[in-house]
Amino acid sequence: MDHQLRRRALAARLGDLGVDAFLVTDLANTRYLTGFTGSNGQILIGRSFELFLTDGRYAEQARREAPDIDRSASDRSYRGAVAERCASTPVARLGVEAHRMTLSAHAGLAEALGSGVELVPSDDVVEVGRRVKDDEERELIRRAQAATDAAFTGILDRFALGVSEGWIARELERLMLEAGADGLAFDPIVAFGENAAEPHHVPGHRVLEEGDVIKLDLGALVEGYHADMTRTIAFGQPAAQLQKVHDIVRQAQQAAIDVVRAGVTGVEVDAAARSVIAEAGYGDNFVHGLGHGVGLEIHEQPWLGTTQENELPGGSVVTIEPGIYLPGIGGVRIEDMVEVRDDGCAVVGISTRDLIEL
Ligand code: ZN
Ligand code: ZN
Repeated sequence: MDHQLRRRALAARLGDLGVDAFLVTDLANTRYLTGFTGSNGQILIGRSFELFLTDGRYAEQARREAPDIDRSASDRSYRGAVAERCASTPVARLGVEAHRMTLSAHAGLAEALGSGVELVPSDDVVEVGRRVKDDEERELIRRAQAATDAAFTGILDRFALGVSEGWIARELERLMLEAGADGLAFDPIVAFGENAAEPHHVPGHRVLEEGDVIKLDLGALVEGYHADMTRTIAFGQPAAQLQKVHDIVRQAQQAAIDVVRAGVTGVEVDAAARSVIAEAGYGDNFVHGLGHGVGLEIHEQPWLGTTQENELPGGSVVTIEPGIYLPGIGGVRIEDMVEVRDDGCAVVGISTRDLIEL
């Protein structure tokens, strides 16, 4: 990953943004632009300078992970260093990440800068560039998905009458780590029976019973890159309605996968899946958007949903995750990541999407 190239691309956009310099305070964006993985880092990027700021705890780590940028490690707030640099350069208009900055951080920065520097709120400046993954990023996502697929295969023989959702969630974590994950992309969702009606159920003490559906939403993390997959399976024979609903969700997901290619909008892909579900009579039971980008964050641009008019760029990685939720009964979601290409898309994982009956 060429972090310097990414920073140069940002520097080249400063004129369009109407600023003399841009301050990156979001940690995922900081990582994207430098490789730094610590928990306190900011980057100030001007037309002819760039400066990485952290504190003494991370001085060594920053030297190792971000060797190609001027660095300053100080135990005082980054605001002072930003103010000094803006005064000496000079910078009259400083762009900040409005969607990531708290009101108090903004007030503190404005106070440190004084009246000579105007703060210019800007949204998604770095995030827009992050939508398109390079080869190395897509490879890391594939590795994260491989660990996710391995955990899904491994968990299938762990289900037995009386095991709890929480225990299965912990087993999934163990299996992903054994398969090479650095950690979890998010806490796994494990929902048995009627709990599967909640899209984001938190695993608890509910134990497995004959005929339950089992909804598993899991993802591994590899070198900062996330995976995201959902499967709904059954323990014994599920109710006929849930088998039917699984068929519909699977068809809906395939309909969306069939229309994904570079240039299609998030609305169009969402509609391809949503129309299948609506025509089957379950339109009111698909209660969320179709999907989201995946990368250094589990949920990031581009988005797929009923209001997401943005076009999907080639090289982006997005989830396709339709669901039908039946309160009091259960629910089905099937989710896969796909790589968006000029002529279509490629599903990243290998786990079967057929209904598995254990
Ligand atoms: Zn998911
Ligand atoms: Zn997802």
